[in-house]
Amino acid sequence: MPAGSYHLGKSLLRVEQDAGSVTAIFADGTHEHGDLLIGADGGRSTVRELFLPGQQPDYAGCVAWRAMLDERDVPPAIHEELFAHFTYCLPPGELFLAYPVPGRNNETQPGQRAYNIVWYRPTTPAQLADFCTDANGKQHGTSIPPPLLRPAIIAWSKAQARALVAPQAAEIFERDPRPFFQGIFDFISPQIVFGRVALLGDAAFLARPHPGAGTTKCAIDAECLADSIASLDLDAGLAKYQRLQGAFGTGLVRQGQRDGSYLTDQHKPREQRRNKDMSWDVDDLMGDHDGRSMQVKRILDESRRV
Ligand SMILES: Cc1cc2nc3c(=O)[nH]c(=O)nc-3n(C[C@H](O)[C@H](O)[C@H](O)COP(=O)(O)OP(=O)(O)OC[C@H]3O[C@@H](n4cnc5c(N)ncnc54)[C@H](O)[C@@H]3O)c2cc1C
Repeated sequence: MPAGSYHLGKSLLRVEQDAGSVTAIFADGTHEHGDLLIGADGGRSTVRELFLPGQQPDYAGCVAWRAMLDERDVPPAIHEELFAHFTYCLPPGELFLAYPVPGRNNETQPGQRAYNIVWYRPTTPAQLADFCTDANGKQHGTSIPPPLLRPAIIAWSKAQARALVAPQAAEIFERDPRPFFQGIFDFISPQIVFGRVALLGDAAFLARPHPGAGTTKCAIDAECLADSIASLDLDAGLAKYQRLQGAFGTGLVRQGQRDGSYLTDQHKPREQRRNKDMSWDVDDLMGDHDGRSMQVKRILDESRRV
């Protein structure tokens, strides 16, 4: 982004609008006028909360444990075996993925990259509440700043890795001094345009990450919004954006729910689970992952027929 695009330390208080403009009013007393305000402030969007008060994302019943190890810290024997590969481990009811990513400053040269872990684990609301309670007993809701995660929870997560996943993968998880977790949530917005305000990305629709398309959706939202308001007047362009991206976002959230049902169905009593909820079929899983980009294209194509 060009210099001057980010203004740090500003807290949005409210939004005012009339037929010709929109104004964002900040806690420091400053305000900004414009033709259009885009709320691209993520799954816990402040802008969305202002226009859809009280409507919160639904907890999906699982969390993703995250860890990352710089390439130079991966032991040579494990590097040799894993680093070039996308790794899957399938403990019963869970899904552990690991893969190489650019380094902390986007380095892609060998030796300067990193190995990233995303480990989906069914987690009850009571467990989540416990994870989100800091060492002073303060409960932070459904997420907690990673530095406040209790050392005992971190130690437990590492012991779980050692017990449940392949030793090479567990070793990488354990070497990260600070694994953390993200709760997985769903949100379907009943509306993403409010006069001269539009929601975009996770602020508009929060899909479970399984389709692997969250950032693609952000880009398609942005492209659709830009194209719609460039080719039509603002009101008609925003109505088009609402119609097209409303359908696409809803389709992606539903797909994420289907893809993640194996994880969340683990909370059901055993007798209520379908056979396919008992264990992953490895070939099905690999097929699903291979077919992801086509799946997203199908959802996009369907949304364009609305
Ligand atoms: C475990 C996990 C795995 C995922 N894997 C994938 C994947 O493989 N592929 C993929 O495409 N997607 C994946 N996603 C989804 C992807 O991360 C999101 O869809 C994407 O980051 C959403 O982008 P965004 O810009 O809408 O929101 P965010 O990335 O959340 O960005 C919102 C920004 O707004 C800022 N902000 C929030 N509130 C305010 C405020 N009040 N004032 C100012 N700034 C504010 C935040 O600090 C943040 O920088 C994954 C998500 C999770 C949780």
